[in-house]
Amino acid sequence: MRYSEMFLPTGREVPSDAELISHQLMIRAGLMRKLTSGVYSYLPLGYRVIRKFEQIVREEMNRAGAQEVFLPMVQPAELWQESGRWAHYGKELLRFRDRHDRECCLGPTHEEVITDLVRNEIKTYRQLPRNLYQIQTKFRDEIRPRFGVMRCREFGMKDAYSFDMDEAGSEISYRKMFDAYQRIFTRCGLNFRPVEADSGSIGGKYSHEFMVMADSGEDAICYCGACNYAANLEKAEISRPAENGPAGMTPPVEEVNTPGVRTIKEVCAFLGVAPEAVVKTLIFSADGTPVAVLIRGDQEVNEIKVKNFLGCDLLELADDAMIRKVTGSPRGFAGAVGIKARIIADYSLLGMADCVMGANREDFHLRHVKPGRDFLIADHADLRVVRESDPCPRCGAEIRFARGIEVGHVFKLGTKYSKAMRAAYLDREGQERTMVMGCYGIGIGRTVAAAIEQNHDADGIIWPLPLAPYPVIITPVNVNEKVLFSAAEDLYHALEANGVEVILDDRDERAGVKFKDADLIGIPYRVTVGPKKLAEGKMEIKTRRSGEVIALPVSEVAAFLIGLISAKDLALSTKICT
Ligand code: ATP
Ligand code: MG
Repeated sequence: MRYSEMFLPTGREVPSDAELISHQLMIRAGLMRKLTSGVYSYLPLGYRVIRKFEQIVREEMNRAGAQEVFLPMVQPAELWQESGRWAHYGKELLRFRDRHDRECCLGPTHEEVITDLVRNEIKTYRQLPRNLYQIQTKFRDEIRPRFGVMRCREFGMKDAYSFDMDEAGSEISYRKMFDAYQRIFTRCGLNFRPVEADSGSIGGKYSHEFMVMADSGEDAICYCGACNYAANLEKAEISRPAENGPAGMTPPVEEVNTPGVRTIKEVCAFLGVAPEAVVKTLIFSADGTPVAVLIRGDQEVNEIKVKNFLGCDLLELADDAMIRKVTGSPRGFAGAVGIKARIIADYSLLGMADCVMGANREDFHLRHVKPGRDFLIADHADLRVVRESDPCPRCGAEIRFARGIEVGHVFKLGTKYSKAMRAAYLDREGQERTMVMGCYGIGIGRTVAAAIEQNHDADGIIWPLPLAPYPVIITPVNVNEKVLFSAAEDLYHALEANGVEVILDDRDERAGVKFKDADLIGIPYRVTVGPKKLAEGKMEIKTRRSGEVIALPVSEVAAFLIGLISAKDLALSTKICT
């Protein structure tokens, strides 16, 4: 494509809401423009990158045996009522009524639609397993759209859904998708890590998130330096610690007046104890039933772990009325002794034999409390947020922290949807059985943004070759010099004839301006056609990533570039781009 004809508005201006470098660069390099909050248009250059990525996704999904479909974006409420999500999904689900007053929504995901399709068409074990995928627009009315297409409201997603006869089959489907994802992100030349994750509102058994490593990422990742354990912070586990031997004598409980003392820090200062000797009592409402969660003063409760442990649908901190009911005092003084609620404790309480906690009485604390003697704990469990240097749950080495961007997610759904929506088949014996499902998403725009987050410098984007909108840009330094420009044009035609996507910067601009734009839009290889080298019969090829420049005889340039670019082989393309 000739630069002069391209719709490619580059610039230095960045919108004030663009905090992330990828967001800034996607605007500056003319990849996209904002229409309204969380809704973006892709311009030609940006859309090329999107299509490059989609193609890689498609190839790997097909290779893994999934088949492409295209499902509707508008979905009837009835399906969501059947699955039970109409009531639970909340405000991210954009709901509306059509002219016949029928309730609908814009699909934020497609479990309901695909399950409906499959239950109507698949009847016997002979038709299983199946894996269907699509690359399609989703709408989620995110509460805080930000970071450009990283967290927007309307976005492209690849979503796949597997249907199997049983758990063992589902495991195989999950593995295939897991492997396909490894290949997809490897082919893109990204530094990524699969991490164990919670199954969230979609529900189901377990899941992995694929994280592109980036300090700017929204997600906290815990990983082990010694083994390959990795999990997101929500999910990261703590093993049950070995219990200490019998503790010494604990003096009797003593009630202490602690006026105005509220926080752990204030309690420690007032009573002269360490946070490790204090127990926090948090009262939750689990589907309306009060539960007291105990944790050591220096630790934080992980509400997702509490929710999973209790197996409840809705977990929230108790309101004032519930607190008063179970403790007999206002908020802020809860303790386990005499509380009228089931008590569960984090493992951090194991071995504690002399602690400080709230007295269930305004402005009082208890000291010398001994769990087991002064109150009973129904269960000990892993309920806390992991901290850096905690022991790895697999091998015991130290856990480290990093940040990442979630670009993909593979879930085992079990029979959550197939049961609710009656997706059943007849097995070999003619028995009706419920299909076992999995679902697998990749954020298309988010991956492209993540690729920029990981591949840029002060001058602009540095596209990994497999995602580059064009692998080559030819920059004649002066378009008014005939010999020079026609040499550039010859190369342009030679590359195009060989299927290389190439930009010819035919603008009548200073060389410096053109170089800046080429760097900004991140084209992997720039061929400079200048008078000095051309007089020697040569052109220069500059690699965007390394800055390395080599001069080659004019006659060899096209073949050299074609060789580099057609190195489609996985390992090779990865090597080139990282
Ligand atoms: P997040 O926790 O970031 O909101 P999610 O868990 O809601 O993500 P999934 O439902 O698993 O995401 O969706 C699959 C993929 O779609 C995600 O891995 C991500 O790449 C992408 N995605 C999800 N929400 C958005 C969004 N608001 N904007 C862009 N991409 C998104
Ligand atoms: Mg989300």
